[in-house]
Amino acid sequence: MSEIGFRDEVNVPEGPLNPQGQAFETVMLHAGQETPDPATGARAFPIYMTTSFVFDDCDAAADVFALRKPGNIYSRLTNPTNEAFERRIAALEGASAAIAVASGAAAITYTVENLTRAGDHIVSANTIYGGTYNYFEHTLKSHDVDCTFVDPTQPGTIANFEKAIRDNTKMVFVETIGNPNANLIDIDALAEMCHSHGVPLVVDNTFATPYLFRPLDHGADLSIESATKFIGGHGLVLGGVIAENGKFDWEGSGRFPWMVDPDPSYHGISFARDAPGAAFCTRIRAIILRDMGACLSPVSSFALLQSLETLSLRVERHVYNTEKVVEFLSKHPKVEVVHHPMLEDSPDHALYQRYFPNGAGSIFTFEAKGGRDGAKRFADSLKMFSLLANVADMKSLVIHPASTTHSQMTEEELLASGIKPTTIRLSIGCENVRDIIADLSQALDKI
Ligand SMILES: *Cc1c(COP(=O)(O)O)cnc(C)c1O
Repeated sequence: MSEIGFRDEVNVPEGPLNPQGQAFETVMLHAGQETPDPATGARAFPIYMTTSFVFDDCDAAADVFALRKPGNIYSRLTNPTNEAFERRIAALEGASAAIAVASGAAAITYTVENLTRAGDHIVSANTIYGGTYNYFEHTLKSHDVDCTFVDPTQPGTIANFEKAIRDNTKMVFVETIGNPNANLIDIDALAEMCHSHGVPLVVDNTFATPYLFRPLDHGADLSIESATKFIGGHGLVLGGVIAENGKFDWEGSGRFPWMVDPDPSYHGISFARDAPGAAFCTRIRAIILRDMGACLSPVSSFALLQSLETLSLRVERHVYNTEKVVEFLSKHPKVEVVHHPMLEDSPDHALYQRYFPNGAGSIFTFEAKGGRDGAKRFADSLKMFSLLANVADMKSLVIHPASTTHSQMTEEELLASGIKPTTIRLSIGCENVRDIIADLSQALDKI
């Protein structure tokens, strides 16, 4: 790695990403808007701020309503600015279709809503975002959907997930990079196991971004992201995306009759047969967005499109700074342990090398010495880092999970998820790494 701040070699991912043979950096600038706006010549994608769209006549309207012809009806369902963002995400994730919704939480809720019915069951890693954990553990129970949590840090991970699968299991859910301790899972092996049972694998790829890892290339059926994080990247807008690989065998699985049978609430459509390659996203749009309505604002889509243009540049710098910070912390006398898969003694180091040739993990944790008070004193003493409940901002962030993001969990749940009273989570930003380390250093001195 060079000393000036960037890698010696440009990170061009292996192999072309789109049918034109363009690589990630090109796709993130052009996908979804191949030509300037046909109406005005505008180079930036316009914000189509309108609730509804005029039909040529009643027959044309009927065709669009019945999904016989593409076209916009109402911005709860589709909107041109949202569509440009969705097409760009699909291209970057290597997906056959994608849908944008109002937040990462909505992306997760809608995915579960699309895959389950009362009486069903899901399996999830327990090393996940605190909000998702609460939804699976508490809210879903009130809908009569049960969740079995598996600790992926225990030996025999894939077999442990397999043991949890039942006849009524409708998905296996994991995060590419676990929350908050940056643990990793063998996604290829997990996907193979899931498919042998006809169960889809859903991966929350928020912490990796498609620049560093594309779950769909490794067998996952759905890749979900909170666009609020690296995709937006500047802590400005909330958004969520769901990308599908279009290959899951809904009919063969036998677990999802509502994806296959004619839908009486939507012109008798069979999503699996009538929307090949996009069955999952089409059903979310036609049924779930129609009924529940957490659509993304076109203004947010516009902001997210702009942010995507710099995704690889930002993520490269996040990763570079993180590597320097992890080196610094892992040698510091006031630090008990750093949880990061780049470290050779990490149990996930081999997976890290296999899955992340360009590095990853600018959100990670460490244990400070000096107990709970030491950890809080450290967090309170940082000057440049912001103490707040977000991650993946351009600015460096810190939080004490036990008293904030994961505070709704019981002591046992916390420990099972690898969170101790001394755990500090950092989200390393894009400031100059010397200034980041200087701030961490002065705060560690206060312990
Ligand atoms: C933030 C986050 C979510 C929730 O996304 P919102 O956009 O805040 O609703 C889900 N998963 C992960 C991994 C997250 O970091």
